[in-house]
Amino acid sequence: MVERPQVVEQAKVECPFCGDDTSPEVGKIFLFVNDQTVLIENVPARICQGCKEEFYDDAILFQIEQLRAKTLPASQAQRILQVPVLRWEDL
Ligand SMILES: [Zn+2]
Repeated sequence: MVERPQVVEQAKVECPFCGDDTSPEVGKIFLFVNDQTVLIENVPARICQGCKEEFYDDAILFQIEQLRAKTLPASQAQRILQVPVLRWEDL
């Protein structure tokens, strides 16, 4: 198994948007790879307790960018989601 960087525990990190505290948790990221949309769960993140914004370390963001160049293992999919597709002009 590939060693993945984890979010380093820090005493207190404020959300730059609302100023509330963030805490180390896991987030979800949608990736669009080769016309396929995948949702990646359990991504190490800091999540704001106020506005729920998710923040990712540079090391995590770097790994996510690397995933774009890979063929993601569909056989490892935990489940299949159906996603509503909306148009900007209709919102
Ligand atoms: Zn916030």
